[in-house]
Amino acid sequence: MERVDALIIGGGPAGSTCARQLRRSGMEVAVLDKEAFPRDKVCAGWITPAVVEALDLDLDDYGRECTLQPLSGFRTGMMGRPAAEVHYPGPVSYGIRRCEFDHYLLMRSGARLLSGQRFKDMRRDEDGSWVVNNHIRTPLVIGAGGHFCPVARHLGARPGSAEAAVTAKEVEFEMSPVQARDCGIRAEVPELYFCEDLKGYGWVFRKGDWLNIGLGRQDKQRLGRHLDAFMGMLAGTGRIPAPVPGRFQGHAYLLYGDTPRRIVDDGVLLVGDAAGLAYARSGEGIRPAIESALLAASVLMHCRDGFGIDRLQPYVERLVQRFGPRDGRARTLPMELLPAALKRALAGRLLASRWFARHLVLNRWFFHLHQPPLRV
Ligand SMILES: Cc1cc2nc3c(=O)[nH]c(=O)nc-3n(C[C@H](O)[C@H](O)[C@H](O)COP(=O)(O)OP(=O)(O)OC[C@H]3O[C@@H](n4cnc5c(N)ncnc54)[C@H](O)[C@@H]3O)c2cc1C
Repeated sequence: MERVDALIIGGGPAGSTCARQLRRSGMEVAVLDKEAFPRDKVCAGWITPAVVEALDLDLDDYGRECTLQPLSGFRTGMMGRPAAEVHYPGPVSYGIRRCEFDHYLLMRSGARLLSGQRFKDMRRDEDGSWVVNNHIRTPLVIGAGGHFCPVARHLGARPGSAEAAVTAKEVEFEMSPVQARDCGIRAEVPELYFCEDLKGYGWVFRKGDWLNIGLGRQDKQRLGRHLDAFMGMLAGTGRIPAPVPGRFQGHAYLLYGDTPRRIVDDGVLLVGDAAGLAYARSGEGIRPAIESALLAASVLMHCRDGFGIDRLQPYVERLVQRFGPRDGRARTLPMELLPAALKRALAGRLLASRWFARHLVLNRWFFHLHQPPLRV
């Protein structure tokens, strides 16, 4: 039987970040993931400078082997209405490919990797430690398995039933030289278009010759219809080459404040999507995944006499300090209380305004400039 100080289930950004921090504090850490890396993850692949800083990411080193697309502007609007284009003097975000990004972070974590191994079960042993998959013994199991994390299920989460999740679909493909020539999307200026009812948005990101297109919504029933309309709009305006090769892949995640999950228990803790932390307005989940992992590690490093629930509770308090109350109160906008038709008319006009796009949509909702990068 193998023994480690902490076993992390899931090698995405949350798992690898937590692993790296715990390794730095001298703990023996293993990361177990059902996939063999590099593996893909359904995602637009957009990260903010706050992510680069929190990860202490050396962009020169990263960009040597991996796709790194600096973004210095955004085009935003409501579907079928005039859009606003906002430019910045330097990079305000980066486009990455998740198959490369997650692999890079996991490799540099220094943790023992148990990849290609699915989590099956965890049980308590006589000495109080956990035994996972019948062969790894540990006092601490960290759930970093994303939205459907099995450790979150162990703590009572029921993804797909009682939870109100965002569902999203995405496709990423390398354009042929002809497609790249005909593509109307500029690599440094991705495009975002909100659905008329403001329940979701579609995006197009170009990273060199890679194109990523997708749409996410808070009501999964009509996702396909909205995606078809979005694709029709993009192809009809010559923004993307048609037909798009490859199939759309779907995934889900929870917005912070919706259906709070139980996050800690005796010897168990959740980070990232497993804990349901994505930002409510943008759906950005990588930054909260990384920040939660850093916050968790900063608490765990000081748990010298065990990982009882009372020792882990400060992590939940730090999440609330960082992201706000967990009951959704923080994110109701006055505009959301308006009748639907009025909201649509008002939103269409506001989203076409460059001032609104820059200061509210981008700087506040998407880049969270009011919240400085996390330092722990
Ligand atoms: C379509 C779409 C687009 C998105 N675009 C963006 C974006 O552009 N920018 C952004 O910031 N956020 C985006 N997000 C959200 C972002 O992808 C997530 O918030 C982020 O991946 C969370 O990281 P994580 O480490 O918590 O989980 P994940 O990245 O989901 O990693 C979980 C890991 O756990 C492993 N795992 C799962 N189950 C098991 C099991 N049973 N046994 C073993 N291993 C298991 C998985 O293989 C995976 O490697 C998007 C989400 C979607 C769905």
